[in-house]
Amino acid sequence: MPAESSRPLLPELRPALFIDKDGTLVENVPYNVDPARLKFMPGALEALRHIARWDFALVLVTNQSGLARGYFGRAQLDALLRTLAQRLWDEAGIRLQDVQVCPHAPGAGGRPACLCRKPAPGMLLRAARLHGLDLLRSWMVGDTLDDVEAAHRCGCRAVLLDTGGETLWRHGPLRTPEAMLPDWGSFREYLEQQHAHAIACPGIR
Ligand SMILES: [Mg+2]
Ligand SMILES: [Zn+2]
Repeated sequence: MPAESSRPLLPELRPALFIDKDGTLVENVPYNVDPARLKFMPGALEALRHIARWDFALVLVTNQSGLARGYFGRAQLDALLRTLAQRLWDEAGIRLQDVQVCPHAPGAGGRPACLCRKPAPGMLLRAARLHGLDLLRSWMVGDTLDDVEAAHRCGCRAVLLDTGGETLWRHGPLRTPEAMLPDWGSFREYLEQQHAHAIACPGIR
């Protein structure tokens, strides 16, 4: 039988860890574009170094309405994101697969005005399409319930890092995280257990 016939019809898809930026990967300094003020959250680098070894694509997904509001320009944000990616590499050997940005502001009354601002799932879907990501095996980590909802809207699972970012606690069917954890260290342990289970029982989530 020719070798080609044993090849899967579709290329293998990779799982991703989608990571919120402000209040999750770095401390939340509202509308900050000053690279000097970037400060990683405690334990984030250590945890991500481990997680990257389990073949998760690491994708940053960040709402940046400061662009639409005119607080800063795209060049300033890009410079900040370049510094962030460089520091991840220099300080922990971590390579981001992608950084997805929503540049839009919410609509009147906080209602969605685009398909990418979290809690909409547009950034996750776009990254999945671009990089061949398996959303059903992917996770999102964030500090607000909007992060959780964005993940659930496209079939990912989500962990809420309870670091003080969520203040409204609007609950809903898509807004209950798989786990709520206090810090990156416990998130790493949790994901390790989930990942070991996924390897032991392929096909079962
Ligand atoms: Mg956040
Ligand atoms: Zn958007």
